Amino acid sequence: MRALLKRRAGPGAEMAEVPDPRPGPGEALLKLVAAGICGTDLHIFDWNPWAATRVQPPRVMGHEMAGLVLALGAGVDHLTVGEMVGVETHVVCGTCPQCLRGDFHVCQNTRILGVDLDGAFAEQVVVPARNCRPAPGGLDPAVIAFQEPMGNAVHAASQGNLRDRVVVVTGCGPIGLAAVGIAKAEGASRVVAVDRVAARLKIAEEMGADQMVDTTGATGLGTLLRDACRGTADVVLEMSGHPALIQASLEAMTPGGWVSLLGLGDGPSQLDLSSLVVMRGITMFGVTGRRQFATWESTSAYLSSGRVDVGPILTDRVSITDFERAVELARAGAVGKVVLYPPEGEWA
Ligand code: ZN
Repeated sequence: MRALLKRRAGPGAEMAEVPDPRPGPGEALLKLVAAGICGTDLHIFDWNPWAATRVQPPRVMGHEMAGLVLALGAGVDHLTVGEMVGVETHVVCGTCPQCLRGDFHVCQNTRILGVDLDGAFAEQVVVPARNCRPAPGGLDPAVIAFQEPMGNAVHAASQGNLRDRVVVVTGCGPIGLAAVGIAKAEGASRVVAVDRVAARLKIAEEMGADQMVDTTGATGLGTLLRDACRGTADVVLEMSGHPALIQASLEAMTPGGWVSLLGLGDGPSQLDLSSLVVMRGITMFGVTGRRQFATWESTSAYLSSGRVDVGPILTDRVSITDFERAVELARAGAVGKVVLYPPEGEWA
């Protein structure tokens, strides 16, 4: 079969012929229908320091996917050949202390599709059947694939109450944009979207943000955020990993508020925790992955009920054979989610 392969350590990737995967016991063979490009894919494509230490080529890239079940390995009875599924991309061990207490999202032995295991940018993909989530009927395959990153936003937004709260979303990549829609759906009284890219803030507005803050060249960010909140923030959903933005959003926060930290920074952040967090009774949550599978239930409920419409986020649809253009689009960052499709007629 054809696959987008990271063949060797170093920048780039190539379309290559690789052996057809076969599902073993407990596994499902999926035919790719749609796959999103994630920041992680860009890191692997560019071969940044994280990728160089983590990824062992040759590796088929990609993880956010919608697929059709082609075949099932022995012992799989909860899936049906021919059905469409979304895929949880964290493959967990089931035996570490975290897994045993049901905290699969922080499994100590997590392997990630497209990073530690062959991934989604291929004609066919083998995944653990446990990780396949049958998709609500009638959903656009791009939306089915988007459940994975959206699940990060759902997980972050579900750490506390949002109803009648002033919610600041810092960082309006696809996950932040989904968080804007979720906060509105949960009845936030005011949602403030923060980014430095005008095109993303435009999408945030389409997702229902009440106020957009462009941080390009901004000084006095804390004051800027307070003004945008018309007072203080009750909740911050932090999707940027940017230290100055984290500092500013804490400065804008009301005592007793809560923060979900999901964005990953480039390095350590310095914060005066005593004055910003401890003395003001702020609750901070580190959020990673998705709860397996409560987060998936919530995510697909938002989508199938129409309470959150992620259509505005899915801005670019590109054939996988045109992956270099897709990577450039995603890297430029002036878009929402870039979605790859199998080339028409060429793949089975
Ligand atoms: Zn585990």
